[in-house]
Amino acid sequence: MADMNVNLIGMMDNFGDESKCRAYLESLRWPNGAACPRCKAEKIYRLPKREQFLCASCEYQFSVTVDTIFHDTHLPLVTWFLATVLLCEAKKGMSACQIQRSLGIKTYKTAWYLCHRIRAAMAEVHKSKLGGVVEVDETYVGGRGHGKRGRGAANKEIVIGIRQRQGELRFFHADDVRSGTLEKYIRENISDDVEILMTDDLGQYRGVTRRLGLRRKHRTIPHSMGLYVNGDVHTNTVESAFSLLKRGVLGTWHRISAKHLQAYCNEMCFRFNNRKNPYLFRDTILKLIASPNLEYKELTSEVRNAA
Ligand SMILES: [Zn+2]
Repeated sequence: MADMNVNLIGMMDNFGDESKCRAYLESLRWPNGAACPRCKAEKIYRLPKREQFLCASCEYQFSVTVDTIFHDTHLPLVTWFLATVLLCEAKKGMSACQIQRSLGIKTYKTAWYLCHRIRAAMAEVHKSKLGGVVEVDETYVGGRGHGKRGRGAANKEIVIGIRQRQGELRFFHADDVRSGTLEKYIRENISDDVEILMTDDLGQYRGVTRRLGLRRKHRTIPHSMGLYVNGDVHTNTVESAFSLLKRGVLGTWHRISAKHLQAYCNEMCFRFNNRKNPYLFRDTILKLIASPNLEYKELTSEVRNAA
């Protein structure tokens, strides 16, 4: 398994059977002891043989997975945990096919659905706006060939990348690179107090920065003239993230479709933004505990999933 840094022995020691996984979920979900999910009472009996809890006050019987994404699944928790660690650690991502093979999941459909629910949990809620030095660039993925030469090609999808230097990365699957579209993503993600905004020389950025009052902070690098670095002016940090996305899209996610591109973008950004987080696995499991279940029919509907 190339590009992996997973300690599988350690994983099996910690999460090798259902009761270890349950104990881990319990410690994350109820760090101060179980409480009744129905009436919130804190006096709870443990029914050890059935791995259930009983509320002393309303007599509700529940398990640690109740009201979580893990509850209605027929997959063992071990499978969920191992899939999560694989998706967290594989730098370029991992396809449902690989997950299916690695974990011995019966059908591709089951593996695909599992991966998508983990990806949905990884989707970050973008809270704060980016500041400092921020690079914005756009790229084209999918279809034949790659790189900017394909600009405008009908079978390519547009991804807008925004990255704060030494900071966060965000990718958006956009419908087009019209001025209004670029403005929306810049307005929603970049603070008015940004120090410098770096883009290429795509003409639309001029109108956008004028309308947003960022004209004086805007620096451009003329990609159209083949120039990529001019001292400090470049968009190389966002471009290196693009190349990671493309290697993932081309290499790992064979069955990627436009509809799920935002989900892959979210997964990639989440992994990238957490690359120095030693608690990434734990944080992802926490997000899974807190995330609403994503219905299979939602994933397969015609509407593209929103970011
Ligand atoms: Zn109760």
